[in-house]
Amino acid sequence: MGSNQNKSAYQQIDLSAAKNTDSKSISKVRDKRKQFPSIDELTQGILKGDKTALSRAITMVESTNRDHLQMANTIIENCLALKKESIRLGITGVPGVGKSTLIETLGKKLTALGNKVAVLAVDPTSTKSKGSILGDKTRMQELVKDSNAFIRPSPSGDTLGGVARKTRETIILCEAAGYNIVLIETVGVGQSETAVHSMVDFFLLLKLAGAGDELQGIKRGIIEMADALVINKADKENIKQAKKAKIEFTRALQLYPPKESGWIPKVLSCSALEDSGIIEIWGMVMEFINHARTIGTLQTNRSNQNKHWLLQHIDDQIKYDFYQNANISRILPTVINEVTMGKTSPFRAAEKLLEIYRKDG
Ligand code: GDP
Repeated sequence: MGSNQNKSAYQQIDLSAAKNTDSKSISKVRDKRKQFPSIDELTQGILKGDKTALSRAITMVESTNRDHLQMANTIIENCLALKKESIRLGITGVPGVGKSTLIETLGKKLTALGNKVAVLAVDPTSTKSKGSILGDKTRMQELVKDSNAFIRPSPSGDTLGGVARKTRETIILCEAAGYNIVLIETVGVGQSETAVHSMVDFFLLLKLAGAGDELQGIKRGIIEMADALVINKADKENIKQAKKAKIEFTRALQLYPPKESGWIPKVLSCSALEDSGIIEIWGMVMEFINHARTIGTLQTNRSNQNKHWLLQHIDDQIKYDFYQNANISRILPTVINEVTMGKTSPFRAAEKLLEIYRKDG
């Protein structure tokens, strides 16, 4: 950003603080900075595509403060009313397979074509390890600098459900800010693929060419979710092996039933590092989107996803309210103790706790 005019209101506050040497003014400015912008300011900022406003709204979505969450809900409602939509692409694969290299290479191509690209992540382990995927500054160094790209690390959270919910709400904010392509990365080591699969239009599994039995070691569930399997690092001495793997994967995928939409998952290969096969990946995604749009499954899939998230959110909230209930949290340790000692049956104890909870409600 070059001139002051282009800077957001929040950034300008920073600048005026630097110029003003009067300590009272500086503390006033600091107070103002501490205040959160209003719902209207944030909504307007997001609609203008202001990244700072977008980041602040996402911080609210990720907050545990009830006031902030309520503000976030209103902003999301405002943004939903605009009905701006993007192509949502999920990318999974084990650590080291090349997800961020692919996102960097693909993302740069997409912005060069005039798209606005948001990159999000779902990493339920980020709270424990402190570092989240996309949190590492050395990743996607060029895309980070691209004014038409927005990169947000995984939210932290105690449960995968919580992390996924925040990412899903973040998608809506990014779409309202004009991002017409949203890439969501997740590590292929657990349940997070299922969560990401239920928030995207297209789900891509990134693989490496290995020796022999190609589909071994990949969980059946992930194969069933994937709309495409892409073999990365098909370069240098790996080219031959990648070609062989492509044939084997294609053959193996034929054993799976076709998707409801009639789409037959494709197998491609690429080199994210050397930028080969990347345009073909995007071509395939667009082919899928056009196909799904034409036959109506794109919209049906999104409607089903909305229903899923409604029920998921109710489940999460009920659980949260239950454990937050003062009477429950007071007696729960004793009840757990009784159950583990075999003094009460787990079912009877659960019924008793639920009865107390219902009475409080
Ligand atoms: P992630 O953990 O799945 O996000 O993987 P990264 O994108 O961080 O890549 C892991 C390593 O593999 C890095 O050293 C990359 O430079 C390298 N890498 C990624 N893509 C390719 C590729 O297409 N070819 C080769 N030869 N190396 C790659």
